[in-house]
Amino acid sequence: MIKDFFSYYKPHKRLFIIDFSSAVFVAILELAFPLAVQWLIDDLLPGRDWNIIIIVCITLFAVYILSTFLQYIVSYLGHKLGINIETDMREQLFTHVQRQSFRFFDNTKTGHIMSRITNDLFDIGELAHHGPEDAFIVLMTFTGAFWIMFTVNPTLALIALVMVPFLIALITYCNYAMNRAWRNMYGKIADVNARVEDAVSGVRVVQSFTNEEFEIKRFRKDNGLFRKEKIGAYRVMSGTHSSIYMMTRLLTLIVLVVGAWLVFNNELQYGELVSFVLYTNVLIRPIEKISALLELYPKGMAGFRRFRELIAQEPEIKDKPDAVKVDKLHGDIEFHQVDFSYDRYHSVLNNIDLKINPGETVAFVGPSGAGKTTICSLIPRFYDVNGGKITIDQMDIRDMTKQSLRSQIGIVQQDVFLFTGTIKENIAYGRQHATDEEIINAAKKAHLDEVIANLPDGYETQIGERGLKLSGGQKQRLAIARTFLKNPPILILDEATSALDTETERLIQQSLDELSENRTTLVIAHRLATIRDADRVIVVTKNGIEEEGSYDELLEKKGVFARLHEIQYKR
Ligand code: ADP
Ligand code: MG
Repeated sequence: MIKDFFSYYKPHKRLFIIDFSSAVFVAILELAFPLAVQWLIDDLLPGRDWNIIIIVCITLFAVYILSTFLQYIVSYLGHKLGINIETDMREQLFTHVQRQSFRFFDNTKTGHIMSRITNDLFDIGELAHHGPEDAFIVLMTFTGAFWIMFTVNPTLALIALVMVPFLIALITYCNYAMNRAWRNMYGKIADVNARVEDAVSGVRVVQSFTNEEFEIKRFRKDNGLFRKEKIGAYRVMSGTHSSIYMMTRLLTLIVLVVGAWLVFNNELQYGELVSFVLYTNVLIRPIEKISALLELYPKGMAGFRRFRELIAQEPEIKDKPDAVKVDKLHGDIEFHQVDFSYDRYHSVLNNIDLKINPGETVAFVGPSGAGKTTICSLIPRFYDVNGGKITIDQMDIRDMTKQSLRSQIGIVQQDVFLFTGTIKENIAYGRQHATDEEIINAAKKAHLDEVIANLPDGYETQIGERGLKLSGGQKQRLAIARTFLKNPPILILDEATSALDTETERLIQQSLDELSENRTTLVIAHRLATIRDADRVIVVTKNGIEEEGSYDELLEKKGVFARLHEIQYKR
């Protein structure tokens, strides 16, 4: 795991070396400073040579400047290193998540992925920056300072050393308390955020039930809880700072008292006493770093472990090594004894046999939950079959590359997802790098151009958050334009018009009919009127394919389809 972690430093080796060596330099300068002071007091002061003292002080000043500069380098380049590693990991994670199959998203909460990408990576970045550097610096300053202190005066060094564990314990405890306080606070702010999100995105529901007061009351409660936790967190923080301040002063005082006594007994020189006091200050920083590391390391490593777990998850649906790139399929689709289930417990499709001829329009009808959408998701390999096989133009779809297979299939669904951006960009999503002319052409075919002509910025009009500025019918037209642009030989219309009112549906239907011309088309329809002209109707129930035939044949048969038909037209 550690080795894995360090592999992320590789591309930033230079940065790491500069940062690390600067940090070592800073530590050396810090260790040397008290020695210089000691030398100044004990050896130079008695000589009363003012010139030498000035020269030494000027040198010390130069060293200070150098140290300041190095500290700037350490802070800046160190953080840059951490941020670089964090960025690399974030991109790796995003790329990885983008390539996952549908089942991954069925089983993973979006919030989960988001927290991987934000919180975890932040912790990892912090560890990447501070981890190795701080661990080394702590070790170096500690051993360095104590070694020097022991050579100067073992008694006093021992007294200082005895104090250290208490300091570490105190700081560690404070860190723990602070962590807990922050965590509670973050929990509460998450609650507040969730309330805001609910109340804003659900504002139409809130207002239609006139529940504003209720929402405000709920919000006030959560906001109050957050206030309490945040004040508590800052109280702990203030307590931490004060008690650490006190303990360090105590350490200095003890060293001072014992040191003074040693000076009285001529066991210690004045300069040595001063340097001891200064060393107690040098020690404070690494001690604080130790406790920070104690916190950073488990947090960062836990994040890194989760990160690696996610990265290790191979996409379920992958190309075979010898997968074939297909092009211009005819759309001769066949299901051969296909079995499928989303999970181990419920089988959704059982032994399905199905043949769809090139250019044919086949309608799927049946009760909700029967498996119509499932049948259609198997064709672009959003999921792989558990048994049997699906072929297109007599070739198993698992022998084709995923990319080329999917480029041959267009899907228009009930919900149209629009991306933040312009109308044009959203149409062009159907085929990146399409020319303006092709985009306009596609919009015309979808009868979207009339809509666009009335928009303030035409094709450059920004679509509001989640496409709120477009009506359902307009969004559907955009989806159709996208698919015209993609121009696939196989088309799947999954309840494309089910969310629309009958009048809009009738208008969209015409565009859909044009879209399905010369393509193998699978239509899933709720309202039977829309499939009147289908070449064939397939009735899917939980028993599988129950009936099959033309619209009129199925009516004659007086089976499931006839019953569905009766229910819809009885009113
Ligand atoms: P239809 O489109 O005919 O309404 P579906 O194909 O969407 O039916 O669903 C068939 C069955 O599979 C249903 O029982 C449904 O609950 C289940 N199902 C659909 N999608 C998933 C999924 N992503 N994960 C688990 N079960 C699913
Ligand atoms: Mg469905």
